[in-house]
Amino acid sequence: MVLLQFVPLLAIFTGITTRAIVIFVVLYFSRVFLITGVYHRYFAHRTYRMGRATQAVAAFAATSCAQRGPLWWASHHRDHHRYTDTDRDPHSPQQGFWWSHMGWILSGRFGDVDLAKIDDFAKFPELRWINKRDWIAPWLLGIASFLIGGWSGLVFGFFGSTVLLWHATFSVNSFAHVFGTRRYATSDTSRNNPVIAALTLGEGWHNNHHHYPACARQGFRWYEIDVTYYVLRLGALLHLVHDLREPTPAVKQRRRLRDGYLDLGMYRYGLAKAAAIAESTEPDLAAAMEQAAEEAARVAASERIPVAQASPAA
Ligand SMILES: [Zn+2]
Ligand SMILES: [Zn+2]
Repeated sequence: MVLLQFVPLLAIFTGITTRAIVIFVVLYFSRVFLITGVYHRYFAHRTYRMGRATQAVAAFAATSCAQRGPLWWASHHRDHHRYTDTDRDPHSPQQGFWWSHMGWILSGRFGDVDLAKIDDFAKFPELRWINKRDWIAPWLLGIASFLIGGWSGLVFGFFGSTVLLWHATFSVNSFAHVFGTRRYATSDTSRNNPVIAALTLGEGWHNNHHHYPACARQGFRWYEIDVTYYVLRLGALLHLVHDLREPTPAVKQRRRLRDGYLDLGMYRYGLAKAAAIAESTEPDLAAAMEQAAEEAARVAASERIPVAQASPAA
């Protein structure tokens, strides 16, 4: 994976043709949607429904993003929401910014998928089949890019857009937990970040998303552009998907920082950081701080909205 990051640099030798640029743009934006609209908002959070055949086609198409299979992706993402910013979060920036961005994938510690964590989808044999053969679609897409755009189409169009897609996705786990603003008193460090939202077709409204992960929409206000949601609405018009879950007015009003709610997430973060600093000189104080941070996490966990919709999909 590290080596593949450098493949687009081969464009120095192949040049960048107009066809390669078109391939790049089309593959980037269509696959951002497949990650955000399919892997994330459907498989991880079940924020809308689709039929079994559509579900299988969408799952196979999304494996072309080269981010492993739908069951792997969604099960790890559910862990991120269940245990955000704790030791069990696969990619918390509390364990280092680089770790949250890419280190966790490269570490090899998260290569397996625990099907029990995603049994609502793992029960479909076709999805298990697709999940195991996650290499087929990226290879097909790479070959098609070569046939259409030659070497430039392959190294710039296909590999270039794949690498940018990786970093755009990873930036939600890293940047959107470190830079940006917070509207809701979530128990984690999630932020709303318009730059990440533009790059990922709407996933940068990450504080909104952690506040209410069960809805298909992440931009809660008209100016919070959420292209993934608009495409899903179009899909609903075409009867490809249905039952899109919306954030209700009550949800949007709940636990807003401006209404005076204690910012539990940042409180926890500050305490954990202070405890780490105090560790060597004031062990008793550090222990007390850690305990307070854990207590805050417990309070927050009791108020949390379920990660995925409860009733079975499809
Ligand atoms: Zn997050
Ligand atoms: Zn999520």
